[in-house]
Amino acid sequence: MQKNEKIYAEKEAEDFLKKYIKVADSFLTKDMKKAAVFAKKIGYPVVLKIISKQALHKSDIGGVLVAKNEDELKGAFDCLLKITKKKKIRIDGILVQEFVKGQETIIGIKKDPVFGHVIMFGAGGVLTELLKDVSFRVCPIDDKDAEDMINDLKAKKLLFGYRGSKPVNIVVLKKTLVAISRIALRRKDIEEMDINPFIINDNTGKVADARIIFSR
Ligand code: ADP
Ligand code: MG
Repeated sequence: MQKNEKIYAEKEAEDFLKKYIKVADSFLTKDMKKAAVFAKKIGYPVVLKIISKQALHKSDIGGVLVAKNEDELKGAFDCLLKITKKKKIRIDGILVQEFVKGQETIIGIKKDPVFGHVIMFGAGGVLTELLKDVSFRVCPIDDKDAEDMINDLKAKKLLFGYRGSKPVNIVVLKKTLVAISRIALRRKDIEEMDINPFIINDNTGKVADARIIFSR
């Protein structure tokens, strides 16, 4: 990151994004009891994550854990705090997040020197990177562009129902892509935005991790 840039780690990025698109429900805290109260309220399983600008790639340091009940939450919370102490990472807190079932997709925005803001879409973690199976359009896009972006992907079958899995809600997915492409119109200061994953199922779709870089 350069000096003239400002970065939003997951929680800040999601608070920014929830004005525009659906984001997994979450609560940031350093207090395990408060984490347990929130988890009980939204229901298990929940995902627990280390939130820190010093650890932007959370799973690389073992900073993402799933808890199926309160006992597991306590164990996971302790474990994450231990990691941050051992690695001397200053944290904003531990994020307790709703577990979202569905197909993982990647949605991003980048500022291109020639085209201005472009939106990127890909459908599925490891596969996406390996096959460079992504689609790009100049922002903003409309519903038809969003449909074309989905159809561009080799991995589109993952979205249309695959080996007995239900097709994802394509209407929600298209609306989300259009909405994200429009954020760039209002916020020229976005240098880069990574939503990875945006998890989509037959009913809904939600941001489950995001990172944004703004220019100052
Ligand atoms: P990282 O900083 O390593 O990218 P993520 O927050 O993306 O961390 O979490 C890593 C992985 O854990 C995701 O790619 C996804 O597979 C899974 N995951 C994260 N959050 C959720 C969630 N709320 N519901 C379901 N799976 C999740
Ligand atoms: Mg991620």
